[in-house]
Formats: sequence, C-alpha cells, structure tokens
Amino acid sequence: MVVAMSLEEEVRLLAQREGSENALRKIALEIFPEISSPFEETSNVLCIQPHPDDCEYGCGATLAYLADKGIKVTYLTLTDGSKGTTNPSITPGELALTRKKEQEEAGQVIGVSKIYWLDYPDGELPYTRDAMCRVMEVIRREKPDIVFAPDPWLLYEPHPDHRIGGLLASEASLFSSLPHFCRGTPPHAVKRMIFYYTSKPNYFQPADDLIEKKLQALRKHRSQFEESWQLLELSIRLIMAVYGTKINAKYAEPLRVIPLTIMHATLLSELI
Ligand SMILES: [Zn+2]
Repeated sequence: MVVAMSLEEEVRLLAQREGSENALRKIALEIFPEISSPFEETSNVLCIQPHPDDCEYGCGATLAYLADKGIKVTYLTLTDGSKGTTNPSITPGELALTRKKEQEEAGQVIGVSKIYWLDYPDGELPYTRDAMCRVMEVIRREKPDIVFAPDPWLLYEPHPDHRIGGLLASEASLFSSLPHFCRGTPPHAVKRMIFYYTSKPNYFQPADDLIEKKLQALRKHRSQFEESWQLLELSIRLIMAVYGTKINAKYAEPLRVIPLTIMHATLLSELI
C-alpha cells in the first residue's frame, strides 16, 4: 500500500512537471519495453499487405533483417493487385498472374517462407466480418508474435484496400485470442502490431546494411515500378536517410509499434 502511494505520488509529480500526456507516454514506454525493442523474444512474424509490393515498400528492410536473424517471415496478400496499371491493354487477369510471380520473386529476396493470398479483386477489399475471419484464420494458423500491417489511421490515404486492410488486420489481431470469434481454428494471442505507412512512427529500424536488399526486392515488382524506378529509388533513399538521423544511422525504416494489450479502449495506443 505504501509502495502504491509512493508510485502515485511519483506519477503526479511527473505529470505536473511534464504535462499529463507526456507523463502517460513515459509510463507506457517503461511498462512496455517492447515498444523500443520490438523484436526481442520473436520467432515468427506475419506481414499483411493489401497488394503485392506493400510489405517490401513499407517495411522490406525490417523484414529482411528479421529473416536474416532466422525469424520466420510470412506474408498475407489481401487482393490480387489486378488493377494496378495505367496500361489498358493488359487484362486484370494477366496482371494478377504477373504480380503474383513478381511477389514470389521479391519474397525470395527478403527471405519470406510462405505467402498466403486471399485474392479479393484489387480496389474491392470488403470491410466485412467474413473478410476479417479469413485474415484471422491465417493469423491463427501461422501463430505470429507480431503482425505487420498498413496503418489504417494514416490521414489522406484514399486507397480503400489500404484503409480496410489495416482495419481488418487490426481487428483480426485483437480478436484472435478470443475463441468465440470466427470459430474453427484454435485461438492465438498476437503480442503486438507494427504499422508501416504510418504518420506516427515510434520505432526506427536501422537499415544501413539492408536498404539494398529492400530495393532489390522492390525492383522485382516490374509491372509497378519499371518506368518510375529511378524516382522511386531516390525517394526511398531520401526518406530513409531522413529517418536514419533519428537513430544515428545512415538509413532507417519508420514504424509504429503497439502492444496488443493497449490497442483497445485506451488513449495510450495513441500517446506512445
Ligand atoms: Zn498497396
């Protein structure tokens, strides 16, 4: 009781000194050290992507780092990518096949062990209970410690597959440990989520040694980047160089780590 009172007194003083939001952020970072070092005690991760190329684009260097460490990296691609072209002479069916092949090649560069496909039509990922359960089934089958997904709370993201994909991944991760949701496959508790394509990064993965591998993997998506490659490569290098300065590295990937235990009904997930 005495200890609890002194802790209360300590956080009151902290809040008076630094403001309540900063105090809460500091307390959360202390309680959840995994926010600052998210890959300790990790043996298995799942990267959920709306389209072929998003995992490499959003967090390819991080995934390559994990695969190099012997951590199992699995992908779940939600749509078939069949509309990602400005060329009207390619049919959606042809493009879907091409993109699947490109994704397999890119995955090999990263060191991905398996790629699941839900094959929803590009641009038409449904925000339904059925789609959420299909995502959850893959989570429960693969049992990842960490689920990567696009941040669905990124402002000014008009692509519905990215917004909905991020929401489906978050909901499926949140409910995956509860057996009455999406009955069938045994429950599995995800430890934390890591969002890529985020405007609120709270972790910066050093990528000095792995930016080349990320670029090499991304370049396999020829149908997406062949014409615009030089500009894309430059923009990736510049953005990763900017984030590198956060951690005294040459390059870094910006990510947002949120422990599952604070990903519901608390402001902490926003403050960290
Ligand atoms: Zn995408």
